[in-house]
Amino acid sequence: MRFDPLQKNEILGMWKEFCREEFPDKKHVRSYVYVHTPYCSSKCKFCMYESEPLLKEGALTEEKKFLLNEALETAEAVEGLEFDGLYFGGGTPTIYEEDDFYDVVSEVRSCFKLSGRAVSTCEMNPNSATSGKIKTVVEHGIKRISLGVQSLTPKVLEVAGRKEADLMRTAELIAFAKECGASVVNIDLLAPLPGETDKTFLETVEKASGLGSDTVTLYCLQNLGQQYSPSEMAMSGESLGDWDRIKEIFTSGLAGSSLEILKESSKLTTCLIAGNSNNLYNEDNRYELHSRRPVAVLGLGRNSCSNLFGKVFYKNLGRSGAAQGFAAREYVGYRKDIFEEALDMLLLHLRDGACLPFQYFESVFGCDAERFARENFEMLIDRGFISFSSSGVEFGIKFADALKFFELSKTIKQLIFTSKPRNLLRSGAE
Ligand code: SF4
Repeated sequence: MRFDPLQKNEILGMWKEFCREEFPDKKHVRSYVYVHTPYCSSKCKFCMYESEPLLKEGALTEEKKFLLNEALETAEAVEGLEFDGLYFGGGTPTIYEEDDFYDVVSEVRSCFKLSGRAVSTCEMNPNSATSGKIKTVVEHGIKRISLGVQSLTPKVLEVAGRKEADLMRTAELIAFAKECGASVVNIDLLAPLPGETDKTFLETVEKASGLGSDTVTLYCLQNLGQQYSPSEMAMSGESLGDWDRIKEIFTSGLAGSSLEILKESSKLTTCLIAGNSNNLYNEDNRYELHSRRPVAVLGLGRNSCSNLFGKVFYKNLGRSGAAQGFAAREYVGYRKDIFEEALDMLLLHLRDGACLPFQYFESVFGCDAERFARENFEMLIDRGFISFSSSGVEFGIKFADALKFFELSKTIKQLIFTSKPRNLLRSGAE
């Protein structure tokens, strides 16, 4: 396991190897290009994504220039590889003005070959999405549009420093996208957010599910406690309950709409998807940066993350590298924070009840999970993290018990970072 920076040529070299079919299972590996826009009009207080407010004049022009150069250069390295989708995310991809947005979408699209099964997505902020930008993406084959509404409660948005989406305009954008030929228009909601109560959340769900989208996806915001105190969370005298309660309210808020919770999404404990047809949600079609299955994600843009089926997980630090004296874009390999991020995802998969072979754990993190469990067996038993079944020993966390889950992930991290693999962390990584 390496925690030192990976040079750009090393990364491109690995993708070249990947393209030369030196990875025997490549045909079964889903590959995506992720295009990151690291800017938003303002930074929402709850947001944990790699984004910053757009404050400097010219920053976006510079970002576009670097991104398109990077796309061209990378396209050469992955020539011949077919991807299963492009994903424009961020940050806020629609922060670009229409002409620049067009350039970004069309030039990136022309750099990469897409497979017949490809599904491409563009995230849009309802406040900066326009009919022109919708037309641009659909014309370029990006037919899944996801509008980040998050909440429709004015007080919640005010606390978060986020502008409310205009309902009428959002409904018009959705209708326009459908007319243009978008195959799925989605609305994203987040919960729990500070200041949200059962009543306001129910209203948000009712309004959002009546806007005409094909799906409404509810994401569970985790680790919010690190950013907000309990009194901030309950600033209206009450706060939303646990994830089970949130799911209940979400389900009842859908009652007057044509949407219902999709069966396939019910196994994911961190998100819930409501749709108007069971065919619309297909986990395979979704972008999977941290997939539980082998996946290859090529991240473009400053601070994007990439993944070469779990064996190489790296972050493109882009121009922030220049501030540290590097002349060009810098790719960083297994940094501790990236490692932790990946570990979090792995633990979430365990929590979701997804099957995760021990070998996969080892190939990703270089630590033997089986030995880890054996060596820490007593502690895991003591804390109730392991239980017995007729077929053997298994992690027996009650997955609905979020607090217990977070305690387990903290403990596992502590143990990993204080036991042998720690020696592998090089300076600069800790
Ligand atoms: S707009 Fe989205 S990406 Fe940007 S700060 Fe807010 S939540 Fe984060």
